[in-house]
Amino acid sequence: MGDLLHTQAIETLSRAFPHAVLRPGEPRYEEENGRFWNQDNADVRPAGIVAPGDADETAKILQVLSDTKTPFAIRSGGYMPVPGFNTSPSILISLSRLTYVSLLPSPSQDGETPLVKFGAGNTWGRIYDALSPHGLVVPGARSRPIGVGGFLLYGGVSHFYASVGWACEAVTEFEVALASGIVVTANATQNADLFWALKGGGANFGVVTSFTMRTRKLKKLWGGVRVAVGTQLTALQVFTALHEGIQGDVDEKAHVEVITFYSPETCGSGDALFVLSLAYAAEVENPVALKGFLDIEAVSDGTRMTTQRDLAEDDKVNVGYDKRGLFRAFSYRGSAELTLDIYSTYYALVKASGLFDADPSAMAALLWLPAGRNLAAGTGVMALGEEAEPYLSCSICMRWSDPSASARIHAIADSIAEKLKKKPRDAGAFVTFTYGNIAGVQDQTFSGLPEKTRRRLSDVARNYDPEGVFQTQVPGFKLA
Ligand SMILES: Cc1cc2nc3c(=O)[nH]c(=O)nc-3n(C[C@H](O)[C@H](O)[C@H](O)COP(=O)(O)OP(=O)(O)OC[C@H]3O[C@@H](n4cnc5c(N)ncnc54)[C@H](O)[C@@H]3O)c2cc1C
Repeated sequence: MGDLLHTQAIETLSRAFPHAVLRPGEPRYEEENGRFWNQDNADVRPAGIVAPGDADETAKILQVLSDTKTPFAIRSGGYMPVPGFNTSPSILISLSRLTYVSLLPSPSQDGETPLVKFGAGNTWGRIYDALSPHGLVVPGARSRPIGVGGFLLYGGVSHFYASVGWACEAVTEFEVALASGIVVTANATQNADLFWALKGGGANFGVVTSFTMRTRKLKKLWGGVRVAVGTQLTALQVFTALHEGIQGDVDEKAHVEVITFYSPETCGSGDALFVLSLAYAAEVENPVALKGFLDIEAVSDGTRMTTQRDLAEDDKVNVGYDKRGLFRAFSYRGSAELTLDIYSTYYALVKASGLFDADPSAMAALLWLPAGRNLAAGTGVMALGEEAEPYLSCSICMRWSDPSASARIHAIADSIAEKLKKKPRDAGAFVTFTYGNIAGVQDQTFSGLPEKTRRRLSDVARNYDPEGVFQTQVPGFKLA
């Protein structure tokens, strides 16, 4: 039945949009199907990939898929690792042709920086290439190849998170193709309920075909990566600085992500490595706000005065389309000692888990994104209210090459994630909200939101997608 549905849909779409439909074996299909951070998703191989050229075409394609009740997935950059969230054995809508970037005059007072409008198929690297010559920045992903679509629709943590909050807070307008075949604009005054819902509500309402964002002037910033060996002492120093960094009067220019990782190839039988990704949104070398991290003895130090475009080039290792990968996430408050316990337990469990027997080239990482007051505040779906306390988003990441190891490694990750979550639960420090962009399918990002927010999201979904196409035909974190 499924096969029949997508065969009919492909025939109909091929007649209406012959230039947009790609079938297995065609060179453009193979090129498109290679663009997944998690190669398990490349193995799915949709029966047809449809790459619309503009918003109207996207809407008409959606109407066909809705009328024929054909399952389909949507992909912007392809960096979300969750199996089957950005692809489908049936139809994949690839936004890869929507790659324009244009600067628009600011609609408000003199002296304000321009807005930037861009197609939903862009990577952040392309946006930075366009803005950098003008000395402008936007809160985008910290690595070039990440797509704009998934990043912004689930929130987005940028180098400017402490001042902007979720990156989607800087979006002033979404252009959205709906399942009914029409295109709508969502901003503060038009379709304001949809505007709210898209700031964190994911792929539940329509296909966003373009984003318009506020820019800001920042020619240079300071940042880069410091690498340290993860002894118990280093770990305690790092976690103390991490917890202190989200308490009290936070310097809103400072940014840190703590990434720890271990692979037998890199670390032998030794300790995990700490990769401290630091940034400071001003022309200030070695900022005081990050002293706790700068005091840690580093085996390499890539911090420098730089540009947003250049800083996004730093991660060349983890961004390729050459491996399989997964995330699992949870959030908590608590202390440096609790984080040290989570860290030590993780690597003990990883080493005992059989991960490296399943694939000797595998690597395991555990990373933390501090969510300060601005992430809890904001105007979108993930605004947890003024009273919300800062917390840490913690994510397990594993990467490997062998496709036959995937099922076993997912099971290992699930088992370890449950054991780690128990630590903050037992300490009364667990936070129910999980950041979807760094999560696994089990983490069901929306179920941790307040009941009122979830009801409002479902109302908006019913308003703009009364047939429930995005709830029943499209994969992703769903609202029910
Ligand atoms: C190496 C690496 C680095 C990362 N760095 C960061 C970082 O700095 N900050 C951060 O916050 N996160 C980061 N992430 C997580 C990243 O933000 C998410 O994986 C994000 O979803 C990727 O966006 P994408 O467009 O590439 O995803 P895709 O895989 O293309 O899409 C993700 C989901 O969003 C849906 N979707 C995408 N575009 C649209 C659209 N236009 N309309 C409707 N639905 C859509 C898809 O259907 C899918 O369900 C990183 C991930 C990796 C692997």
